[in-house]
Amino acid sequence: MSAEHVCLRCGACCAYYRVSFYWAEADPAVEGTVPIALTEKLNDLRRVMAGTNGKSPRCVALEGQIGSCVHCTIYAERPSPCQEFRVAWEDGLPSPECDKARLAWGLPVLQPFAMLPPEQIIEYRLAQVDPIANLTVRRSQPDDVTAGQEIEAPEQPPAKEADAGESTTYT
Ligand code: SF4
Ligand code: SF4
Repeated sequence: MSAEHVCLRCGACCAYYRVSFYWAEADPAVEGTVPIALTEKLNDLRRVMAGTNGKSPRCVALEGQIGSCVHCTIYAERPSPCQEFRVAWEDGLPSPECDKARLAWGLPVLQPFAMLPPEQIIEYRLAQVDPIANLTVRRSQPDDVTAGQEIEAPEQPPAKEADAGESTTYT
């Protein structure tokens, strides 16, 4: 993940969903990689990342401030739900799960251009306001999308924290 990656300015999903996975992922005897000390038993088959199985979930492995600057302290060893979680538009597709977590934290959902490198974002945004450039873009990119809000860090914590019991589980 590059230093500019949008997830390093977000972290909402790590503080919204319950992160549960098959127990063996945290068992080094069977080549599990997740540090077991950072997990809790959920049932006979599954464990959860500690901190994510409550009314105000926040994974214990997450450091930093949501919506500002965060990182996963076990990124290389994180469980499969985290590896498989899709950030919106990174692969050209929306991610309702990403959108839901961001909205719960007062962050705008990501727009398709969010994954472009900074210089391309500027070109993209200019094309939205320059009618001549816009025509050029539209000739070459007939399926271009409408620009929306930029990503901003929330000034206030979310008005309502997510209830992990109601939210989608990472399973
Ligand atoms: S909610 Fe989306 S943008 Fe935020 S950290 Fe998760 S995947 Fe990344
Ligand atoms: S293990 Fe890392 S990526 Fe997964 S929820 Fe925790 S902080 Fe987020």
